[in-house]
Amino acid sequence: MTDRSLHEECGVFGIYGAENASSYIYYGIHSLQHRGQEGCGMVTVDTDGVFHNYRGLGLVSEVFNAGLLSGLNGSMGIGHVRYSTFGGGGLDNVQPFYFHHKGGDFALAHNGNIVNADELRSELEDEGCLFRTTSDSEILAHLIRKPHDEDRIDHIKRALNQMEGAFSFLIMTKKRIYACRDKHGLRPLSIAKLGDGYVVSSETCAFDIIGAKYLRDVLPGEIVCIDHHGLRSSFYTEDTSSHICAMEYIYFARPDSMIEGRNVHSFRKESGRLLYRQAPVSADIVVGVPDSSLSAAMGYSEVSGIPLETGLVKSRYIGRTFIQPTQELREMGVKMKLSAIREVVEGKSVVLIDDSIVRGTTSRRIVQMLRDAGATAVHVRIASPPLTSPCFYGVDISDYDQLISANKNVEEVRQAIGADSLVFLDEKTLLEAAPGRCSMCFACFSGRYLTPTFSHKVR
Ligand code: SF4
Repeated sequence: MTDRSLHEECGVFGIYGAENASSYIYYGIHSLQHRGQEGCGMVTVDTDGVFHNYRGLGLVSEVFNAGLLSGLNGSMGIGHVRYSTFGGGGLDNVQPFYFHHKGGDFALAHNGNIVNADELRSELEDEGCLFRTTSDSEILAHLIRKPHDEDRIDHIKRALNQMEGAFSFLIMTKKRIYACRDKHGLRPLSIAKLGDGYVVSSETCAFDIIGAKYLRDVLPGEIVCIDHHGLRSSFYTEDTSSHICAMEYIYFARPDSMIEGRNVHSFRKESGRLLYRQAPVSADIVVGVPDSSLSAAMGYSEVSGIPLETGLVKSRYIGRTFIQPTQELREMGVKMKLSAIREVVEGKSVVLIDDSIVRGTTSRRIVQMLRDAGATAVHVRIASPPLTSPCFYGVDISDYDQLISANKNVEEVRQAIGADSLVFLDEKTLLEAAPGRCSMCFACFSGRYLTPTFSHKVR
C-alpha cells in the first residue's frame, strides 16, 4: 500500500528514571511517527511532583523544539503520536491527556480502540461525568479516578475490566507509570531497560534509537507498574488470549521492530516465501511496492529464483497533504508518489508483490503504471488475505464500502485492478510466517471478531 490507505491509530512511549526524560521521549515518539502523524504530545513529572505537558498538531519535529523540551522537566514521562480515526481530529484529542484530581493528578496515553466506548460514555454521562474530548481514551480517565480509600492499581483493574476492545494504555501518576495491555494482546507494547531506568513503547524500534535494551513484551491482560521498586507485574483478568493484530506484522510496524519475539522484516520476508509456495508463477522479475512490501518481495524472489528488481520508485518528498487525503487527492497522490522505471520493466513479465489491497484504486493504478512502462504481464501476489471486514480495534477500516474484497470475489478484484493473475496469501499460511504462534487477530480478513461488537454494525 503506497497511499497508507490504512492507518494505525496511535503510538505510545514512556520512560522512568532517566535524566532529561523529555529528550528521550522526543526520540521515542519520533521513531513511532509512522503510527500517527496528525498530532503528538508529552507529559513529564519533575522531582517536586509537578506535571509539565505540551501537545500540538503536526509531526514530532514540527511540534517540539529544544526550548520546549528543556521546559518539560523531570526524569519520567509519557508521549504519544496520534492519527485520528474514531475520536475525530483537532488538538483537544491529541494525547497524552493530563487530569487534575483530588485523588492525585495523572496523565494517560492510549493506542487502540474501545469497542464499548459509546455504552461506557453514556453510562458515565448519566452519572454526571463531563467529557472534554471525543476521544474514547478519556473514558478510562473517568473510570480510574482514584477514591481516597483505594489503591490506584485496584481501581485501574476494575476500570480495564469494564472495557472491551484493543488497548495499550500508559497511565502516569506522580510516582509511577502503569503500562497496561488488553486481554487479547491486540496492540503491541514492549518494555526495555535504560541505565537504571525503564522504557515502554508501542514498538521496539524506539528502544534502539535511545540505546535501551529490550526486556520483554507486556502480556495480554497485564499491568506492569514501573517505579522506584523496579517492575511489578499484575493481571487485571485471567481471561486472556494471544491475538496480536496481524496488520502490525503485515503493514503497520517498522521492519526493525520486534513484536512478541518475531522481527517484522523477517515475518514479511517469510510471508513472501510462503506466497511463492502457495502461488508460484513464472515471470522475469519480482517487484515490490515500496516500502512495506519490499521484505515480502525479497522473500518471494529468494525462494522462486526470479530476480528482485527495483521496478517502482517512491518519492521521498510527499508532504502531509497525503496523510489524510480525500479520495480524489489519494488518486493523484499515487501518481505523485510512485513511478515505474521503464528500463527495468519494459518487455518483462512482472510479479508485483503488495502487502494488501484496500480499495483497489492504488493497485489498479500501479498495474497500469507498469503496463504503461512496457511490462508484458503483471501478476499480482498479495502477502495477506483479502480485507473483507471493518476493524473495530483501532485501525481505520470502518466501512464495508471502503473494501473492494468485501464486495467482490478474487476474480472480480483481479478484473477491477487489471492484473493478469491475482492471489492472496491465505490465513493459515500467513500464520506460518510467525513460527510458534498459533493465533493472531484476523478479524478484518475473516469477520470473526474477538469481542462483542456492541453498537458497531457488522454484516
Ligand atoms: S481487525 Fe485487522 S486491523 Fe483490526 S486488529 Fe484485527 S487484524 Fe488488526
